[in-house]
Amino acid sequence: MAGHIVGYPRMGPKRELKFALESFWDGKSTAEDLQKVAADLRSSIWKQMADAGIKYIPSNTFSYYDQVLDTTAMLGAVPPRYGWNSGEIGFDIYFSMARGNASLPAMEMTKWFDTNYHFIVPELGPDTKFSYASHKAVSEYKEAKALGIETVPVVIGPVSYLLFSKPAKGVEKSFSPLSLLGKVLPVYKEVLAELKAAGALQIQFDEPALVLDLGSHQLQAFTEAYSELESSFSGLHVLVQTYFADVPEAAYKTITSLNGVTGFGFDLVRGSKTLDLIKSGFPSGKHLFAGVVDGRNIWANDLASSLCTLKDLEAIVGKGKVVVSTSCSLMHAPVDLVNETKLDNEIKSWLAFATQKVVEVNALARALAGDKDEAFFSANAAAQSSRKSSPRVTNQEVQKAAAALRGSDHRRATNVTARLDAQQKKLNLPILPTTTIGSFPQTMDLRRARREYKANKISEEEYVNAMREEISKVVKLQEELDIDVLVHGEPERNDMVEYFGEQLSGITFTVNGWVQSYGSRCVKPPIIFGDVSRPKPMTVFWSSMAQSMTSRPMKAMLTGPVTILNWSFVRNDQPRFETCYQIALAIKNEVEDLEAAGIQVIQIDEAALREGLPLRKSEQAFYLDWAVHSFRITNCGVQDTTQIHTHMCYSNFNDIIHSIIDMDADVITIENSRSDEKLLSVFREGVKYGAGIGPGVYDIHSPRIPSTEEIADRINKMLAVLEMNILWVNPDCGLKTRKYAEVKPALTNMVEAAKLLRKQL
Ligand code: GLN
Ligand code: ZN
Repeated sequence: MAGHIVGYPRMGPKRELKFALESFWDGKSTAEDLQKVAADLRSSIWKQMADAGIKYIPSNTFSYYDQVLDTTAMLGAVPPRYGWNSGEIGFDIYFSMARGNASLPAMEMTKWFDTNYHFIVPELGPDTKFSYASHKAVSEYKEAKALGIETVPVVIGPVSYLLFSKPAKGVEKSFSPLSLLGKVLPVYKEVLAELKAAGALQIQFDEPALVLDLGSHQLQAFTEAYSELESSFSGLHVLVQTYFADVPEAAYKTITSLNGVTGFGFDLVRGSKTLDLIKSGFPSGKHLFAGVVDGRNIWANDLASSLCTLKDLEAIVGKGKVVVSTSCSLMHAPVDLVNETKLDNEIKSWLAFATQKVVEVNALARALAGDKDEAFFSANAAAQSSRKSSPRVTNQEVQKAAAALRGSDHRRATNVTARLDAQQKKLNLPILPTTTIGSFPQTMDLRRARREYKANKISEEEYVNAMREEISKVVKLQEELDIDVLVHGEPERNDMVEYFGEQLSGITFTVNGWVQSYGSRCVKPPIIFGDVSRPKPMTVFWSSMAQSMTSRPMKAMLTGPVTILNWSFVRNDQPRFETCYQIALAIKNEVEDLEAAGIQVIQIDEAALREGLPLRKSEQAFYLDWAVHSFRITNCGVQDTTQIHTHMCYSNFNDIIHSIIDMDADVITIENSRSDEKLLSVFREGVKYGAGIGPGVYDIHSPRIPSTEEIADRINKMLAVLEMNILWVNPDCGLKTRKYAEVKPALTNMVEAAKLLRKQL
């Protein structure tokens, strides 16, 4: 009977690590304080897994910031600018790489596959020297052992690590970090030797890169790496773990033929084809780590169905050779359902967070070994069937309306050029019109008013008055600044998804369902548990109020369906696109109500459209098709004269530009200023863009105030590749995290730059 956990959340059930880290960074506590919190978290996690009966308990999945950065530290691959030479890497160097320091910016951070977790990208070059510089894997193993718990040390495998790396600054872009394989392997050998000396019996290499579309040269690197390491494996059980998708056939062949490897871990939740691959052949005598418990979602496992799968697998790979596992690290799930005091018992019975998933893994492992906990299984079956039949989940009307959508394309009747003409007749905007992305600074007073209203400490009337005052301040400021298309500032919103989620049926919220996004930052995604509908208008009241305060056009702000979907825990009992279409219908109702209330410009933010892009190229077209369709559904019903904007927080567009165009928005505003003109290169290469476009003219993530000249310069660069009459002038993103002392001068300069150029054109 064997259960295995790929990895576990580090933050703690109440985000203890977050608070300990931030207090340490603020100089309010010592390194020892931080280490103590971390050690307590680790020991309670190990004990919990041991008590639950898990056989393969991971160690070294804890991290002070990020597991890829931990590997960079282990390999001593510190970029030279951080000034490290030798010795064990300590907090100062480690956190400088992660967060920057007084004189140096942080290393680049990027998304971990298609999750909402972000890792620190290793920077390597032909001269990078590797040495064994962080003994964390070994010390965590020893720490658990001292508690009487045998663990499986987890390290990121050498090939995935190199494939996640990028050429360092100043190194040829064509440099392949994979060419450094021969140089990193000696460090891995040292780690293996030290682990064995400490008594380790097994090791887990995370090689998630195996699920990507890799070429034969890259696959060959796996074969080489593990052959080279084989001599260091003797006496160890070696698990190569993959996750987030099934492995392509060629990768499956490669991984299952690796020398010296004794077990293979696969994601059987997202990996729909893995089962067939295993049926087509699995090396005899080896262990299959079957990831049947979903590490990326919050739904309780369908134990009966998983047990069937496991038995099928056992029939192929042999009795005692199947280890029950999670589909990936549980770090992508919240920690413990016990802390959810506000969810009702029915919904709670449908859910499992990391703590509960550990119990599920063990229950399945026991059942597979013939020791089935009947009571646990039947409680699970009852919850599964209550979820299937609950009227809170199914809304026939919504189901029907969403199903009817698929027959049509949902395009606005007139093409974008004609629409822009019709809109201009009404809006009468100058060339290079100025606008902002929606939010204005969120002050302490604002947050307090929202909090007190939520806690029933102030009346609705008091709350509305406080918001009205704020909106009026923001409107006046924009008029003074002479901005062309105004916003109301979003003072009533805490978060762009939560605000809508709270008003839609079929979506609920946790109080403690935090998941790490990067470093100490966590997010608390809504849970979409049922058919989504909009009981009543959500934003019309505020947008109409704001419009009544000015004669300039007031842009209404909505969050788009794809973004709501991609930033939530999504139900797993119907395809994602169906859920997305339902949300699209709810937003469509809102768009049409706004139009009926006299709003002429409506922005539908799709900040997360790119995030949902599947990992494998073969699946991307299908996703983009329904995602873009969902967006069009929201606004296909408005008049030509209603101007639809959308906004995106990245400029990595080169591969999806045709989908962006296919969204058919009238105006798109995009982050641009941090990305070395990646965006403009798309247009330089000749892509035709006929709609309005506002590439951000300054970075709102920094407190720096851009000068008029600098902004004008940027706009001029854009004018070199984009038609003057489609260009908008706006910041990169919303201003909610900035202070008024920064926003006022920055926007003043932005408007001045636009005016300066209007005169010259
Ligand atoms: N309208 C939102 C804002 O201005 C957009 C935020 C975002 O793109 N992440 O805050
Ligand atoms: Zn943005």
